[in-house]
Amino acid sequence: MAQIIDGTAVAEKVRAEVKDRVAALGARGVVPGLAVVLVGEHPPSVLYVRKKAEMAKALGMHSVVHHLSEDISEDEVIALVERLNADPRVHGVLVQLPLPGHIDGRTVIDRVSPLKDVDGLHPVNIGWLQAGRPALLACTPQGVMRLLREYEVPVLGRHAVVLGRSAIVGRPMSWMLLRSHATVTTCHRHTVDPAAHARTADILISAVGRPGLVTADWVKPGAVVIDVGINRTAEGKVVGDVDFAAVSEKAALITPVPRGVGPMTVAMLLSNTCLAAERALDRAVSP
Ligand code: NAD
Repeated sequence: MAQIIDGTAVAEKVRAEVKDRVAALGARGVVPGLAVVLVGEHPPSVLYVRKKAEMAKALGMHSVVHHLSEDISEDEVIALVERLNADPRVHGVLVQLPLPGHIDGRTVIDRVSPLKDVDGLHPVNIGWLQAGRPALLACTPQGVMRLLREYEVPVLGRHAVVLGRSAIVGRPMSWMLLRSHATVTTCHRHTVDPAAHARTADILISAVGRPGLVTADWVKPGAVVIDVGINRTAEGKVVGDVDFAAVSEKAALITPVPRGVGPMTVAMLLSNTCLAAERALDRAVSP
């Protein structure tokens, strides 16, 4: 029977560390600031943004939400992003996705300063990640790496299989594992027989968004299984991509949904905001 990874407890630990870092920055005269840009009334986005802003405030950060109307133009959103890039009280700028259809998310993200890109989505941060240089890292895969570390999962030399290759989870997940010296296989919608790859994984990470995708016969006995998926069933229940009951009979370690990867995402966002503030201060004081 697998040990269950407690994402809520690890996220709490990360937040406690962030609180200490906020205090240390405060002692140097800096309050880390997070600005979130939200366009329109997409209900899950409104909820996520509220959660992010409340948590940032609770840890002593300066937190502002710019809630713009659905029909705002792309140029106006970019103008706001550029004001935030130039605002010294703001260390992290997050543009909540998805944006309405008439605004191109990539164009807007490209205008966020890479030094304030706390979502780790700017091409410069992606390039720095791939080049093995200090970067701001995408929050969800960074949260997965932290869970692996907390539970002392060996990564070096192990075979990690990532299901999914989105810009926000799957691809940065694969690069972070590679940077930690795993042997990485990335599967996606065109992969022939992803189950055959999954069965060879020491670490199996699913970020697809399909309930019940990963059944017990996809999993090698003793594997570590990380479920990034968040799916709502017809009955309104939140489930991951993994058949938790059957797979936990076979895996050594497994994340539940909810209370697995989910709570780590916001915790890592707050950590990234602190990191951006720490780096800004170091740049300001270095000769
Ligand atoms: P996405 O739709 O952008 O990407 C899904 C990926 O899965 C694609 O790359 C696709 O090629 C791949 N795929 C499709 N079928 C596949 C198959 N049979 N085998 C292997 N790969 C397959 O989704 P996303 O934004 O990456 O999100 C994925 C899931 O993770 C969703 O359920 C989402 O809600 C969840 N999510 C959770 C968090 C969190 O904080 N825990 C954060 C972001 C996303």
